[in-house]
Amino acid sequence: MDVFSIDKIKARWILDSRGNPTVEVDVITQNGLYGRGAVPSGASTGQFEAIELRDHEQAFGGKGVSKAVNNIKEIIAPELKGMDVREQDIIDQKMIELDGSENKGNLGANAILAISIAVSRVAARNSSKPLYIYLRELIQASDPKMKDKFLLPTPHSNVINGGEHAGNKLAIQEFMIMPINFKTFRRAIQAVSEVYQRLKAVLTKKYGPIARNVGDEGGMAPPMTFTTEALDSIVIAIEDAGYSVKSDFLLAMDAAASEFFRDNVYHIDEKELTTMELLDYYSELMQAYPIASLEDPFEENDYTSFSALTKVHPSLQVVTDDLTVTNLTRLTNAIDMAAGNSLLLKVNQIGTLSEAIAAAKLSFKNNWGVVVSHRSGETEDSFIADLSVALSCGQIKTGAPGRTDRTSKYNQLLRIEDELQNNAEYAGQNYRTAYKKYL
Ligand code: PGA
Ligand code: ZN
Repeated sequence: MDVFSIDKIKARWILDSRGNPTVEVDVITQNGLYGRGAVPSGASTGQFEAIELRDHEQAFGGKGVSKAVNNIKEIIAPELKGMDVREQDIIDQKMIELDGSENKGNLGANAILAISIAVSRVAARNSSKPLYIYLRELIQASDPKMKDKFLLPTPHSNVINGGEHAGNKLAIQEFMIMPINFKTFRRAIQAVSEVYQRLKAVLTKKYGPIARNVGDEGGMAPPMTFTTEALDSIVIAIEDAGYSVKSDFLLAMDAAASEFFRDNVYHIDEKELTTMELLDYYSELMQAYPIASLEDPFEENDYTSFSALTKVHPSLQVVTDDLTVTNLTRLTNAIDMAAGNSLLLKVNQIGTLSEAIAAAKLSFKNNWGVVVSHRSGETEDSFIADLSVALSCGQIKTGAPGRTDRTSKYNQLLRIEDELQNNAEYAGQNYRTAYKKYL
């Protein structure tokens, strides 16, 4: 019996954190062990992402995934039977060929990714290795530079939700805090939790009980309109919790600007701003608040303005999400134009683990950072927690420190740090550069 050989693949729909169906897969090897993978789903989805196959029929308001599930059962599973789960690249490549399209639109990136994740999990299990160690060996070809040390990421914790993720008038989608001045990931998460709880109190006092509502990523979703209202509340909460802004916590935002770009202008803070005016506005905000990281500041086709912002603020981390969609071609273009300096890595934007890893490697090679990221529609699957440690990228974006779909990732990182004890290093304030030691 070959314990690494695929025997069966089971596929089903389960519910994601927004209550929509998504694909889950169990890949079972000949010895009966299985690895599971569940696929997340975005709301502010980039135009150039791999295709998430939906049924567009009556069930689930069109969002059913039975076609994707059937593609796994009828087309992919028979082809993968007998393949070795340690051959991640070969399996991913096989699925890309079976799909045959540019954007995985035939079989569905959701069908393909669920298998890709599950394959790595069952391979780790059959190798008797924790997932983050197995993935690290896969990524670094069994020869990591730091043999026993692992880098725990600095979280970008999303404490106020706006844009497509909330029912308020905030144009900016995500307001995040980055705990930098802490020795361990555990201590950092404690601080994040304390600030989040203070923020609830600060917002409730100002906006009444309605401020306790949360958005899709678990951050507070108060009835706010202006960017500065959100930033001011966060600053107060950090100080109320006994920490200091700038030395203990930095701020980060995901503008997800494609979502408020209409008729050639950006609709933000009850104004209509041209691209140049928006750039100036970001500069003003950076003067007033310690904003260290800014994602998707402009709409998803505007490489030129990403370049301009990156040039004007060399110390700012400019993260590309909808611009690059974890896609090698788009990322190469962004790197060539210096349109940003850090990749947001979402495995479901591209649809296989191998391609996501290739995108991370290309970023590192070009001195770009990598922020491993969840989606606004998530499941209890904590795969990205292990992936962030395996990549040693030093940064993860996985929502608020509340709601199980988000805390499942934080909690997995807490477990990993416990397991590693002195072999874990928390990236903290070296969130942008620490990866260099590990590659
Ligand atoms: P999404 O949002 O998952 O809704 O696309 C997350 C992000 O934009 O980073
Ligand atoms: Zn984004």
